[in-house]
Amino acid sequence: MKYVVMLGDGMADYPIKELNDRTPLEVAKKDTIDFIAKNGVCGMVKTVPNGMKPGSDVANLSAMGYNPVSCYTGRSPLEAVSIGIDMKDDDVAFRCNLVTLSDEEDIRDRTMVDYSAGEISTEEAAELIKAVNEALSTDELEFFSGISYRHCLIWHGGKTDLNLTPPHDISDRKVTNYLPENKLIFSLMEKSRDILKDHPINKKRIEKGLNPANSIWLWGEGTKPAIGNFEKMTGLKGAVISAVDLIKGIGICAGMEVIEVLGATGNVDTNFKGKGEAALSALKNGNDFVYIHVEAPDECGHRGEIENKIKSIELIDSEIVKPVMEGLKNMGEDFKIMVLPDHPTPISLKTHVSDPIPFAIYDSRNNKSSDIKAYSEKEISKSDLMFDEGYKLMSYFIG
Ligand SMILES: [Zn+2]
Repeated sequence: MKYVVMLGDGMADYPIKELNDRTPLEVAKKDTIDFIAKNGVCGMVKTVPNGMKPGSDVANLSAMGYNPVSCYTGRSPLEAVSIGIDMKDDDVAFRCNLVTLSDEEDIRDRTMVDYSAGEISTEEAAELIKAVNEALSTDELEFFSGISYRHCLIWHGGKTDLNLTPPHDISDRKVTNYLPENKLIFSLMEKSRDILKDHPINKKRIEKGLNPANSIWLWGEGTKPAIGNFEKMTGLKGAVISAVDLIKGIGICAGMEVIEVLGATGNVDTNFKGKGEAALSALKNGNDFVYIHVEAPDECGHRGEIENKIKSIELIDSEIVKPVMEGLKNMGEDFKIMVLPDHPTPISLKTHVSDPIPFAIYDSRNNKSSDIKAYSEKEISKSDLMFDEGYKLMSYFIG
């Protein structure tokens, strides 16, 4: 028996005026996903527990069968794990952004010009983080470079609950009231300026008219997430396919194989076909379970791109779900496949919401005919099946 989860990030939506009050899921042509809904079991699931923010990390933990209330420790530790840091139990991971601050003498007077330092390249950033680490690391502190402006500080035996501010929340504002109260974290941010300001990489960036990465900004601290081993929990050997650090981090913490797909970008130009092929070969090569995550519909939701959101749903259907189901049939394997988003990312709001989302499960051994006519928010909300605690859906799916 093989199990496939197809998670279209942010795929669910609200009715859109430009689509005659229909949602992208209602408009998209997606014969295979509709087949799953018509011939399977459908219901609604709440993936974001009350009181938690509807982040992809929280919602995907639920979808993967983990209760975020007990295992979620923040975003930064998941990113730390995904860039290969082996976190110890008393380590605290911080997101370390490379940012552009304005030039005032006193850090308190500076403005957050750019939380991404002009989306600095990974190669340039690696050199800058290396310089920061050489100057500021101690027995307790270590900096690790990640991707673009997103890096990591590990503080061995460090503190949490420091009330730090995400830099993207204070774009174009004075940082005065958002600086850390913790003296160590404050001093790291303050000292980083002297290391970075006149670094040759930044001098070149300024020459080219690009924002220099002239400071670090620390936030999002957390300890190692308490995510149990997926195989121990379910008896299934599993793999994760995603372009996104957070989802890869969850997979690594869960002890799953994390499969890299060439050309997986996290956007509508991602390699849909490659993800489907990778899923099939993972299942052929000893995995019982594969979790395919596609970021594209969420990105389109954040940008308010209606047509691209529809297109990304159609490509999930034709380039991933259809060939994966055909491939499993050709393998002569019994299988179950579940299609769902993690949370809605409504075009009208351009951000995530916590509303329950629709799921559909098809079992190749047990071809049912349901009253559901298509895979959509409205159709599936007619179902009586509802999971208030989203993490329980996984054990229902596996049976
Ligand atoms: Zn998401």
